[in-house]
Amino acid sequence: MDYQNFFRSALDTLRDEGNYRVFANLERHRGAFPSAACRGGPGEGEVTIWCSNDYLGMGQHPDVLAAMHSAIDASGAGAGGTRNISGTTHAHVELEAELADLHGKEAALLFTSGYVSNWAALGTLAGRIPGLTVLSDALNHASMIEGIRQSKADRMIWRHNDLADLEEKLASLPLDAPKLIAFESVYSMDGDIAPIAEICDLAERYNAMTYLDEVHAVGLYGPRGGGVAEREGLMDRITVIEGTLGKAFGVMGGYIAASTDLVDFVRSFASGFIFTTALPPAVAAGAAASVRHLKASTAERTAHQARVAEVRTRLDALGIPHIDNPSHIIPVMVGDPVKCKYISDLLLAEHGIYIQPINYPTVPKGTERLRITPSPVHSAEDVDRLVTALATLWAQCELARMPLAAQ
Ligand SMILES: *Cc1c(COP(=O)(O)O)cnc(C)c1O
Repeated sequence: MDYQNFFRSALDTLRDEGNYRVFANLERHRGAFPSAACRGGPGEGEVTIWCSNDYLGMGQHPDVLAAMHSAIDASGAGAGGTRNISGTTHAHVELEAELADLHGKEAALLFTSGYVSNWAALGTLAGRIPGLTVLSDALNHASMIEGIRQSKADRMIWRHNDLADLEEKLASLPLDAPKLIAFESVYSMDGDIAPIAEICDLAERYNAMTYLDEVHAVGLYGPRGGGVAEREGLMDRITVIEGTLGKAFGVMGGYIAASTDLVDFVRSFASGFIFTTALPPAVAAGAAASVRHLKASTAERTAHQARVAEVRTRLDALGIPHIDNPSHIIPVMVGDPVKCKYISDLLLAEHGIYIQPINYPTVPKGTERLRITPSPVHSAEDVDRLVTALATLWAQCELARMPLAAQ
């Protein structure tokens, strides 16, 4: 086999479909986020980032940076081992206590990322509970799907956010058979939110555990940033809450929060927890500072929601189509992979605006989009420049606008 030729032709197919991924080479400026220098390529120069998952700018927060600096000065760089073999530092222990408290759970367990936490926790729970069936929402994140897949447990995929379909599937199983309902609160591509209370009702009626990915909600919703389940007073009804420290908390890492026994079970059996080096203590200390700050301060959440509302209003005034949803994610719909990439390239090259195109397989073909994530650190001028650039490009690329009368 001509291996190189195989690689090249697979990549050529991606390019022809407009789905080839090009990474922007960015250098963020401390204290000036969302500004960054774009190094090389057609967008070379200063750009404003409009697609970051550092939703609140916490990756720049002075408390977070100070905690990381002082942890490095106090403890050095790496953890030096797996959690079991000398890698558990005081910073890890403190962060887990902070996270358990955030979600009102007995315990929490850290992983090296949100991806790993879903993959390892779901893989372990589904793989080791005899006869368990996982009921998985059709739009669950790849990390949940991979965890469920590798567990080899029976699985049923229910239609996205469809309670009737979920109930039908639950009712098809014996009442005493073990079941786990896996779903998210805020879905990151459409920005819609699951009916969590109703899913908990079904879980109780049919004897199922619940596993909720709050990755796009932690830090952002609820009085202390505990997520949508906190906002709706539902945390105690969820068996496992999973989150990331890499998005609104601005650092890195993932976790689950649950009962002492469940957490101890995953700690003791999850390969993806046991056989990998622990996060650097400075990362754990930075994440803990971020969680602590957002528990006490609502200013960032309030400013975030206001900025999101402002961008939506401005887009509506121009008739630029975006999915109406109850979250902070603004998906501007293009519906064509080549145009989506083209608009993104022009935004960067001509307007100094960086919004990564979201194409297949991240979203279904025909629903290609620009996923805009406003933050409290975007200024009014940033918003102006964004909507002006989008209006220009919408005219240039002959893209459909919403009929203004219909809004
Ligand atoms: C990003 C994401 C993850 C993974 O979290 P990381 O910390 O980035 O690995 C998990 N679930 C969802 C829904 C995500 O969007």
